[in-house]
Parts: sequence; structure tokens; C-alpha cells
Amino acid sequence: MTTPHRPTLRFAPSPNGYLHLGHAYSALQNERVAAKLGGQLLVRIENIDLDRCRRDYEAAIFEDLAWLGIIWQEPVRRQSEHFSDYACALEDLTGRGLLYPCFCSRSDIARKVNGSRDWPRDPDGGPLYPGTCKQMSADERAQRLAAGQHAALRIHMDEALSVAGMRLGWREYGEEDEPRDVTAEPALWGDAVIGRRDIPTSYHIAVVIDDHLQGITDVVRGQDLFNATSLHRLLQALLGLEAPNYRHHKLLRDKGGEKLSKSTRAKAIRSLRNEGVSPLELRRRLGFA
Ligand code: GLU
Repeated sequence: MTTPHRPTLRFAPSPNGYLHLGHAYSALQNERVAAKLGGQLLVRIENIDLDRCRRDYEAAIFEDLAWLGIIWQEPVRRQSEHFSDYACALEDLTGRGLLYPCFCSRSDIARKVNGSRDWPRDPDGGPLYPGTCKQMSADERAQRLAAGQHAALRIHMDEALSVAGMRLGWREYGEEDEPRDVTAEPALWGDAVIGRRDIPTSYHIAVVIDDHLQGITDVVRGQDLFNATSLHRLLQALLGLEAPNYRHHKLLRDKGGEKLSKSTRAKAIRSLRNEGVSPLELRRRLGFA
């Protein structure tokens, strides 16, 4: 745990591939803001996805960050070592009737919403949950769970909004350090999955718990997570956690306008390194001279 008031930032990659230019940009933004605030930078390894994350990618992350000249404080938090922290939060929310088990697979949901072309979608483009398991009787739930059926935990959005009560929002500084107040719109996500079926956590609950436990004051991350912040604010309010400031930065895109990612085969930092690009040159290319 860190002193709560010291500006504290985190770079939080998932070790499911090599870091690419988009990651370098995000790490450098974190470094820039940490320096500006006189704060410290932590690294968090977001490896809840045990099937996709690998130790060798993790080692490569540290190597690439060090090569780039990023300085971070130890210890590094590895999410896979903290499933019990996330499970506690899920239990708390479930006990308060704010989460319910859902047995639907993706294809069950797709089938259900298939007939309707105008089915509402969440900000990531997924169909809003049609509520199939919401009305299930307590008996049926208990029977299915006892039979060993796996369930995801979904948020009772209406309930949660009424418990969280007040208008939720956050202070957004963007990349330009121009603060503005953003109103959170968690309802856009419908009854989102907060505990996955395959693992006892989700990105959303893990990030909120970790930002709290690590004393994060400023979250610097890509614009692609801007809308997820609404859900994070709701979870923070439900769990009585303080909200950090947020600074969502632009995403680097390829020539076709696609955001750089593993799936678009973005160039890995280590390939550039092997081509003889120096850390300074890379920093310059990304606008951090
Ligand atoms: N692990 C996420 C990623 O690699 C970042 C999550 C966050 O910064 O909140 O995109």
C-alpha cells in the first residue's frame, strides 16, 4: 500500500503479447504525468486471463519498459495473485443483492437478440443483456449452481443505480491537462458482467479494487476505456471507494485508422529495438523528446 496522497499512477498492461507502440505511448504518458505531478509510477500486470497471459510476455514487458527508460516503483502487482480480493468484493455486492448469477453463454444471448436488428448495444458494441436470468427463481438458481453449472455475475443495473443514488461523475483531464467534469453513464452498459463465468473476477472489478489498494490518484490510459470509466465509477460508489482522476489519452492508429493492437499486428517495441531504433528515437517519434 502507498501513502494515499502521494500522486500515484500505474501502467497496467496485460501480458498476452509483446508491447507495441500504443503501449509505449501509454507508458510514456504515465511517465509524463507522474513527473508533472511529482508522483510515482507503478506497474500492474493484468493477467486475470490465465489462458492468454504468459510469463515470458511478462518478462518481456519489464525488459521493454526498462529499455525505454521508464522507471517504476516495486512491488509490481500481479492480478493473478489477488483473486481473493476480487472475490471478496463480488461476494459483498452479491450479498447486497446487486449482482445475480447468469447462466447464459454468448451464443444464448446472440440467439435471444437475433430477431431484433435494433437491439440496444453497449459502448463496445455488444448487445445489452436481455435479462433472461434476472427473473430466475431462487430455487432454480440454487439447483443449477448445485449441479455445478457455471454462472457469470451480472450487475442489477437498476438496483445499483438506485443504491449509488447521487449523480456519478469524474474529473477528466484528458491528454491536454484541461480538467472537466464528466457525468458517468453506467446505464449504457446494462446488466454488465462483473464476475466472469470462467474466472472469479472481471477486468472491471479487478481494476477498481486494484486502483484503490494501490492508492492510485491518477489513472492514465487509452481513450478506448473512457466509457468503461462510467462502470468503474458505479462500482467505486457501491463499494465506498474514492474516485481517482482520469486522463484518457488518444489512441495510436495504423494507416487504415485502426487502433494499434495485437490483432492488427502492431509493430512490437522489441522489433523496433532489433531494427536498431534507439529509445530516444522512439520517444521522439511518439512526441516525447
Ligand atoms: N490492461 C488494460 C490494457 O492492457 C489496461 C487497463 C487500464 O489501464 O485500466 O489495455
